Amino acid sequence: CFFLLSNFNSFAQKSNILSSVENIEIKVDSVLAMMTLEEKVGQLVQYNGSWDLTGPASEMNNQLKVANLKKGLVGSMLNVLSVEATLEAQKLVMENSRMKIPLMFGYDVIHGYKTIFPVPLGETASWDLELMEETARVAALESVAYGVNWTFSPMIDVSRDARWGRIMEGSGEDPYLTAQVGVSKIKGYQGDDLAKNTTIAATAKHFAGYGFAEAGRDYNTVNIGENELQNMVLPPFKAAAEAGVATFMNSFNDLDGTPATGNKMLQRDVLKGDWKWDGFVVSDWGSITEMVNHGFATNKKHAAEIAIKAGSDMDMEGGAYEVGLAELVKEGRLKEELIDDAVKRVLRVKFKLGLFEDPYRYSKPEVLNNINFEDHKKLAREAAKRSIVLLKNSDKILPVKSSVKKIAVIGPLANDKDSPLGNWRAQGETNSAVSVVEGLKNGIGESTEITFSEGTKLGTGERSFLMPLAINTTDRSGFQDAIEKATNADLVVMVLGEDAFQAGEGRSQANIGLAGLQMELFDTVHNVNSNIVLVLINGRPLEISEISKKATAIVEAWQLGSESGNAIADVLTGKYNPSGKLPASFPRAVGQEPLYYNEKNTGRPYNEEHVTYSHYTDVKKDALYPFGFGLSYATFQYGDIQLSSTQMDMEGNIKVSIRVTNTSKIPGKEVVQLYLRDLVASTTRPVKELKGFQMITLKPGETKSVTFSITKKMLEFYSANKKWEAEPGDFELYLGGNSVDVKSARFKLK
Ligand code: BGC
Repeated sequence: CFFLLSNFNSFAQKSNILSSVENIEIKVDSVLAMMTLEEKVGQLVQYNGSWDLTGPASEMNNQLKVANLKKGLVGSMLNVLSVEATLEAQKLVMENSRMKIPLMFGYDVIHGYKTIFPVPLGETASWDLELMEETARVAALESVAYGVNWTFSPMIDVSRDARWGRIMEGSGEDPYLTAQVGVSKIKGYQGDDLAKNTTIAATAKHFAGYGFAEAGRDYNTVNIGENELQNMVLPPFKAAAEAGVATFMNSFNDLDGTPATGNKMLQRDVLKGDWKWDGFVVSDWGSITEMVNHGFATNKKHAAEIAIKAGSDMDMEGGAYEVGLAELVKEGRLKEELIDDAVKRVLRVKFKLGLFEDPYRYSKPEVLNNINFEDHKKLAREAAKRSIVLLKNSDKILPVKSSVKKIAVIGPLANDKDSPLGNWRAQGETNSAVSVVEGLKNGIGESTEITFSEGTKLGTGERSFLMPLAINTTDRSGFQDAIEKATNADLVVMVLGEDAFQAGEGRSQANIGLAGLQMELFDTVHNVNSNIVLVLINGRPLEISEISKKATAIVEAWQLGSESGNAIADVLTGKYNPSGKLPASFPRAVGQEPLYYNEKNTGRPYNEEHVTYSHYTDVKKDALYPFGFGLSYATFQYGDIQLSSTQMDMEGNIKVSIRVTNTSKIPGKEVVQLYLRDLVASTTRPVKELKGFQMITLKPGETKSVTFSITKKMLEFYSANKKWEAEPGDFELYLGGNSVDVKSARFKLK
């Protein structure tokens, strides 16, 4: 068998036809035909790679892992964190196993590997798809240099609930924007050809519904119906499948009574059936075995049976497939064809990655020498500044004027070099980000003095991916220093927000305001100097109603990664004119969550226009800062909408244009957004849905006409006929610089 396979490989190399689809299928089939049942199951098993845990139990565990690698009973590993370690593991397989099927090495490269880019929610605020493709390409380059050939990214879970800590990992509340960003990321990671040595396999996750966890509690039940699932949750995944994403990851949640991992409708019927996608589905960490906890399976073996039948192909560190699958086949409870299909999917991706040609192609230590980290840093700064959203700028306090001679930079995050890296920072080094204090010192002219006071600590003790920060609620010892610095300054820049590990997996919060003593510090400083520019560093939309009334300006700076402070300084000093727009609504009060612009009308109360909405008696129902919102130092004026026709038929299209003028004295960028509404349909439809956007740059006084083409595809939705179709009737379209301040027009689809 070895002989056959190596002969076959050299034939394949010589014939130079490796990338063609048919040839890959022939090779996959011929490899499969040589495999035993145990070896096939092995391809569906993924091990965690940290071997170095101490203690006798883990020692035994490690020995077992090594033995199974040697026998070829493992298909992939995750979290193997050096080229040398990937080389070692790959050698165990290649030098000892019968079939010599190379391993894939997966890792959560979510927003960079060493060079850290903005967290995905922040980067989405750039609305710059080319930029997002480029940061993914660079993340892939660095990953390859460290032995990784598969990232568990992009996360394309639409999420509407700021309480959910994982909102930071996705693109916010809109399915169209999420889909666009997801496809850009996939292109960046995978390139045109997976086997390029500089590209890696991507993962569309989490399939599906994870972002709709009830009450924003991570891992919680998801109770949404088919209409919501089809129209709001699945579109980004369909786009990812169409873009050729190599793998999908399923999810932890129960979806309307069936755990996603055991969900045949999602994985077999929709993904592999309707969408004809040919990659493989990896489970989420242990999510197959977790079906026992869900009360959906009696034990690991039963869980394995449910999962494979439902279309989960690989078991991530769950131990269910390796104990259950072979026995199930032998007992006649499972057809071997199901296992064959899963194995073929895994082999297909391995062939596409070029691993059969050269199993060590991603484990070459010398690749690191060719990585230009300085260039990557420049890109990180570019991405960071484009991700910043200016939420408020009263009295045109920003950009900082030359008359400002002394700036007091105050707050627990002001000189924090770690929090800007955010959660899921791969191998970004602790404390390696540029802080705001450092950025301002680098970026402001010599004639302006920068002073710094921490004011208060956000928390105390150790914190990490596994453990959130213990928030400080008592230590005010730094307040006096902050008062003094603020009193003596012309301008205060207050840097508040969240610790790096406050958002992320398992980090749901019932309160999403500024934690600990931050509000109190703000009020204390505000008492002595009310010239405050508030810079927020955070991973989720925050509840900032109170502070937004008092701060003169607000700069939403997310967790911007390695170059955070420099990028923030670029915006504060006016070297970069902010252009970011919110991908998720900021609430007035946490009780509004889940809050999203693409909601539906209710039956009451109503006014003459039949604009109806559900409401609260104590808080206005709309967002404090809505989806799509973001200011610039320039000002833009929108003209009237021009339509090429007010009627279109199913085959045709309508051109819609609007003139946008920069009415200020400085150049600026604006994201022009197109929203649509189907006024009467066979199911209720959202009051607005994003269907297109364009970023334009306008010189002072310049006017540009921005044109979109309305096509039938934009009007389609999952209808009462249970299919995607456009229904004839009236539509309203909206154009503007955010989801609220828009111009509108009507047209008819015939
Ligand atoms: C997360 C996934 C991640 C996986 C591997 C899980 O806990 O839900 O998003 O890819 O761990 O680290």
